[in-house]
Amino acid sequence: MAVILGGGIGGLSTAYYLLKNNVSNNNNLKLLLLEATNYCGGWIKSIKTKDYIFEQGPRTIRPKGIVGLNTLNMIQDLGLSEHVFPIKSDHPAAKNRMIYVNNSLHLLPSSLKSVFQTNEPFSKPLIYAIFNDLRSPQKQMKDDSIYNFAERRFGKEIADYAISPMICGICAGDAKEISVKFLMKTLFEWEQNYGGVMKGMMKSFLKGKNDNDLYLSELAKRAQEEKWNVYTIKGGIANFPATLLQHLRENNVDIKLNNKVNEIEFVDSSTVKLINRSGEEIMANHVYASIPSHALADLVVKQHPDLAANLKGIPFVTVGLVNFYFDSDKPLISPAFGFLVPPIENSPILGVVFDSCCLPDQNGTVLTVMLGGRWFEEKFGQNITEKELFEIAQREVRSILNIKDKPAAHHVQILKKCIPQYIIGHYDRVDNVRQYIQDNNLPISLVGSSYDGVGINDVIYSAKTQVQ
Ligand SMILES: Cc1cc2nc3c(=O)[nH]c(=O)nc-3n(C[C@H](O)[C@H](O)[C@H](O)COP(=O)(O)OP(=O)(O)OC[C@H]3O[C@@H](n4cnc5c(N)ncnc54)[C@H](O)[C@@H]3O)c2cc1C
Repeated sequence: MAVILGGGIGGLSTAYYLLKNNVSNNNNLKLLLLEATNYCGGWIKSIKTKDYIFEQGPRTIRPKGIVGLNTLNMIQDLGLSEHVFPIKSDHPAAKNRMIYVNNSLHLLPSSLKSVFQTNEPFSKPLIYAIFNDLRSPQKQMKDDSIYNFAERRFGKEIADYAISPMICGICAGDAKEISVKFLMKTLFEWEQNYGGVMKGMMKSFLKGKNDNDLYLSELAKRAQEEKWNVYTIKGGIANFPATLLQHLRENNVDIKLNNKVNEIEFVDSSTVKLINRSGEEIMANHVYASIPSHALADLVVKQHPDLAANLKGIPFVTVGLVNFYFDSDKPLISPAFGFLVPPIENSPILGVVFDSCCLPDQNGTVLTVMLGGRWFEEKFGQNITEKELFEIAQREVRSILNIKDKPAAHHVQILKKCIPQYIIGHYDRVDNVRQYIQDNNLPISLVGSSYDGVGINDVIYSAKTQVQ
């Protein structure tokens, strides 16, 4: 029997791919999924009413690259194709992304033409970033922060106004701490191998494209043909894990909710004992741990303190999330995805998503304000209340977006330790952790957002690779 620990999208996907293995290898491995809470989906949660949907965590998924196409294959397989809501590249939410700098909102350049123009807050056209890259010397290093890399190759303004807010938007983190390999691994390799990004790009262009052999479903092909920018699921993105859960149940995966595992004891290379909250012992041949690395550390610390220490070394940040619904007839915001605030602005908010512009099923103006992240404790301390967070978010919405209406509904949540931070050295740490597991013949595989990427696509793809 294999036990899957955690019922977020990582754990559910692991069970999905293990089921696929059962079918293709004609075996009958028994699957048991243990989830601590009474809900499967982890951070993916949607609150749906007749007028609005408040997304509590992720809201859109990128269709691009192998990992994006792979998720679309899964979505089609689950029968969810009809429920996909794409945002195509000509939609305002795809074209209009803003940053808030010096008390005003600025559109980020999104067309080739705009690269040759001076767009505030940048003091020069973005084309100068390319000249900067061609001029700047190479620096040999094993890893670097994404901020340092962007500053070195493209200049300080790109690092401050493009890369730093982007990192806030993706992982609520500080670009000065996050590894360049998190988002720009290929660009970093080009610098390391060829002396610069443009030089590397030219060399790889001459070498030709690497074809991957991923099978493409009709949905994945449609996403490519129609040039989707991002997509979501109608009725709320939580319909995705809910459908996955239903599929697992229909295929006899044993799902146990309210089943928090407190300890893992490795017996030998194919036997592992899990002890749950009520002291019950569960024996398995292998465990797929999809819970956050800091939580896994607590379960293995007795037997493997070194492994636990390494797992604990992956930091996580807390995000405050405030959803607003305004029941106005006219939209209170301009059509855009939303805006991000660069850390140099020293704002309590990370950014605001204009949900009513990018998500379906919204009757009015719906916004989500994200607060804190890497700076949560520094800005709000340990004991901030949800009411206080709401007031801060409302004040910022009033002042930045000039929305004076009172929201007809709102929802506040403090998402404790919700996003892992892939700081400099992260990838070596993960290699070391997996090497330790291999050297000690521990029957455990690691999946989930702590290791191989923080987005939904990455987590699903990591589940696929870990069960192979
Ligand atoms: C605010 C926010 C916005 C985001 N936006 C996006 C986005 O727009 N697009 C995107 O692609 N990604 C986004 N992400 C990232 C994405 O949501 C995550 O990568 C993904 O949901 C992580 O899934 P997971 O299964 O790895 O972990 P989790 O969702 O954390 O699931 C882990 C599960 O394990 C359970 N568990 C923990 N400990 C135990 C235990 N001891 N025993 C049993 N069960 C246990 C937990 O209860 C939980 O259900 C966002 C994340 C956040 C927080």
